[in-house]
Amino acid sequence: MFDAHCHLDFSWFDSDRDDVVNRAYDEGIGIITCAVDVEGINKTLNFSNKFSQSKRFFMTFGIPPTNFDENKIKEFVNIVETHKDKIIGLGEIGLDYYWIKDENAKENQRRNFKNFIELSKKLNKKMIIHSRNAEKDVVEILKESGSKAMLHCFSGSIEQASEAIDFGCIISVPTSAYYSKERQKMLAQIPTEYLVTETDAPFLSPFPKVRNEPFNIKYLIQKIAEIKNLGVQKVSDITEENLKNFFKF
Ligand SMILES: [Zn+2]
Repeated sequence: MFDAHCHLDFSWFDSDRDDVVNRAYDEGIGIITCAVDVEGINKTLNFSNKFSQSKRFFMTFGIPPTNFDENKIKEFVNIVETHKDKIIGLGEIGLDYYWIKDENAKENQRRNFKNFIELSKKLNKKMIIHSRNAEKDVVEILKESGSKAMLHCFSGSIEQASEAIDFGCIISVPTSAYYSKERQKMLAQIPTEYLVTETDAPFLSPFPKVRNEPFNIKYLIQKIAEIKNLGVQKVSDITEENLKNFFKF
């Protein structure tokens, strides 16, 4: 089992980060943690030393599509290039039309996104994509660029998911699918061979109003097994294999 996307640098985990990681490890759950600002990246670089020996702990660095600060973007690119051997991928990056509705700003986002795609090619890193109300453009831009990506917390249509799968993307489903009927519907339609699991912790908990953590992948796996009518072990193995094949670790 693997948590393909969470944010362990967030302050929600400051008091018990070691316990959170160990609870996941004890359950056989590996972790990919994602930092999305320079402060978070530095914090993640620090605490990752403790966990990365396990070979079940990886990092990705990204910058939110809502950040237009040229200096911050430059700083981000520098830090990524400096630590490129320590990260498994670039992200989350992408497009967000939920928070950004202005057309010029959207165009800016698309330009930044395309630049990050070029960076991922240059560094030979896979991407983890954030997309909110922007799935059509995300899929189109990725397809044009010939890049494969992990679509984190995907909430587009099944047609869009299928199109992305066709050019080599994988679809990451969050733990909120444990209760969300809408996400379960999507889950049912995506072939298990292209599915990976994530918590997006501390967010999207399978249970109302509590902090999420990588351990909860276990509940999502159970739900997928139930929906797909497969064994829990089988779903654990397939989703982990999908992730390993994609990131090549
Ligand atoms: Zn996230």
